Amino acid sequence: MSDSGSRITAEEYSLKHPHLQLTLLEKNALEEGSTRLFMLGNKLIALTRPQLPDSLKESIVLQFTNYETPQAKAGGFAPDLNIISISMGLIGRILAISKALSLEKSTIQSIEGAMLILVVGHELTHVMFGHNEVMDEESMEASAMEVHSDYFAGLYLARLIHPHGGNVALEQTAAIVAILAGVLLFSELGGERTETYHSAPVRLAVVLAGYLRWTMDHSPAAAMQIQATLDLRNLNPLIDDAIQEAVLADKVRHCISCATSADESLSDTIQAAEKFRSKWHRQSSLMAPIRDQLD
Ligand SMILES: [Zn+2]
Repeated sequence: MSDSGSRITAEEYSLKHPHLQLTLLEKNALEEGSTRLFMLGNKLIALTRPQLPDSLKESIVLQFTNYETPQAKAGGFAPDLNIISISMGLIGRILAISKALSLEKSTIQSIEGAMLILVVGHELTHVMFGHNEVMDEESMEASAMEVHSDYFAGLYLARLIHPHGGNVALEQTAAIVAILAGVLLFSELGGERTETYHSAPVRLAVVLAGYLRWTMDHSPAAAMQIQATLDLRNLNPLIDDAIQEAVLADKVRHCISCATSADESLSDTIQAAEKFRSKWHRQSSLMAPIRDQLD
């Protein structure tokens, strides 16, 4: 597996943002965690490479940048270079969220990984489907692109954490990891409905729909687990057990209650995504050589 792209080190990040006053221990933890997440991000990109024509296999690179604001974006010079950049501030937030969990270390690391996959998967969708190459989008189309990317982020997550079917207990655990990761990420980052984005709770619902779509076909045990866990009678005790920190637990409960009762229609955005999909496929230079297989 090649780790393409570049990653700012925790030492460089700390020098750039001295006001953070990172201790040696914190720097080491950031270095260890961000290295692990960088490798995982590259693993997801590697998984999509076989779908790309040879000439473009190395064109997608991952970058962890020096910014402190939590942000992720995709851009570059399609089709030759497509950069997925994630700020170290966002990586730090992912690692901080997981500190508030009272779960086994391996489970916590799986949740951190799943949060990162959702971020990379979202940006990767923008790249693969040529969203970034659309220059004249209207707000409805921009909104549709974001929903499309969130849905595929859920699909990518499922595909990456359920590589082997067969072991029901492992499939069920992976489904719980996916739900917790989605809920934690969107609760922490938050966000109201804007012209471009749906609110964080609705985005969570879209991600889980994508996740469910893949598992229904490939891992029925995980799909059933998702549906059972999303029942509030099961979800609330899970959150009580998993999240130690009261502030985060409250944010999570608020996000879930909004997700289940949001007065915000998605159907127009989904219809717009359906409508524009073939246009995005036509725009994607990355997909040009295999375009006839896309629609
Ligand atoms: Zn986006």
